[in-house]
Amino acid sequence: MSDKQLATIAVRTGIESDSQHNAVVPPIYLTTNYSFPSFGDVPEYDYSRGGNPTRSLVADAISDLEGGAGAVVTSCGTSAINLLVSALLGPEDLIVAPHDCYGGTYRLFNTRANKGDFKVEFVNQYDSASLDAALAKKPKLIWIETPSNPLLRVLDIAEVCEKAQKIGALVAVDNTFLSPVWQRPIALGADFVVHSTTKYLNGHSDVVAGVLVAKTQEHTDELLWWGNCIGATGSPFDAYLALRGLRTLVPRMRMHEENCYAVLEFLKTQSRIKALYHPSIPEHPGHEIAAKQQSGFGTMISFEFDGDVEALKVFLNALQHFSLAESLGGVESLICHPGSMTHRAMSDEAQLEAGIAPGLLRLSVGLEDSRDLVADLANAFAVVGEK
Ligand SMILES: *Cc1c(COP(=O)(O)O)cnc(C)c1O
Repeated sequence: MSDKQLATIAVRTGIESDSQHNAVVPPIYLTTNYSFPSFGDVPEYDYSRGGNPTRSLVADAISDLEGGAGAVVTSCGTSAINLLVSALLGPEDLIVAPHDCYGGTYRLFNTRANKGDFKVEFVNQYDSASLDAALAKKPKLIWIETPSNPLLRVLDIAEVCEKAQKIGALVAVDNTFLSPVWQRPIALGADFVVHSTTKYLNGHSDVVAGVLVAKTQEHTDELLWWGNCIGATGSPFDAYLALRGLRTLVPRMRMHEENCYAVLEFLKTQSRIKALYHPSIPEHPGHEIAAKQQSGFGTMISFEFDGDVEALKVFLNALQHFSLAESLGGVESLICHPGSMTHRAMSDEAQLEAGIAPGLLRLSVGLEDSRDLVADLANAFAVVGEK
């Protein structure tokens, strides 16, 4: 574990580690395999599914940023989640997950539970009576995603970890929405942290990748073994790109934040918005917990558009600087309609239960000039007109 500041870890990990040519930036190792020095002498790396030096650097960097003992770099965020449940859970084990978790996580847990791989219960974790009732069933793993997608609800990680410890449950936190720059779940008591590196950590929307960080060395070793066993590990090329993206994580997050507040202040003045969701807003139900456990409020914004589907289409078509696309956390601004995009795998009832209204829109505020972003939104609202 590193005692350095986050920006230093992100920038310096692996720099000047090349002993052959003293390259300042570490080279990429695309090799499939590695020769044994001699008969029976097993090297640190033998086959790249199990281990690869380029992947190891990303694992070290992200593990240090999260304050973990080690990490497995995976082919995507979903495979990191699948790796954890594959390694930890058997048919009798229960996982307690949020009812409003990321759509792909919901689909993965649901599908595998239906096959009998483990049991899952989706609960409203923000309601402590519901959470306590689920914990009384002695889950092996508690899944946390905070702030949640897309409504940015906030859960008290330390409080849940305390409850988990009392019943011997492990806690995993999906930290994709904040990155370690603004939230470090292991310091709050979590056992595992998962990221879709695809999002803020890589930050350039040119990689699909994931990572699973463990608090203990024992869990790290177990997960590395399982990563090789089920073939969940990521490609060296993606690892190289992810490390390149990670170098600028801290300054990117600062500027995402600056732009987010400019957009947010503008959205607060708009009559076509029925509800505005961002944990920085004092009336947001998770504001106080976010202020306590996060060092930044995050740069995702959701709002409920006040209008029918036709008006919604006009609004979306008028936007120039917000691409209508899934994903988040890249340098470019995106807008997403969770009901028909990221969360379409959920039934209408499940969507409503999770609070996803038909007019809900989610913004990933990018790094364009905020004046252009605000002007673009203003123009789209003008085109759609007053209600
Ligand atoms: C994108 C995302 C995932 C899944 O990651 P992939 O890299 O797309 O597999 C998981 N959790 C959250 C919160 C996400 O945004």
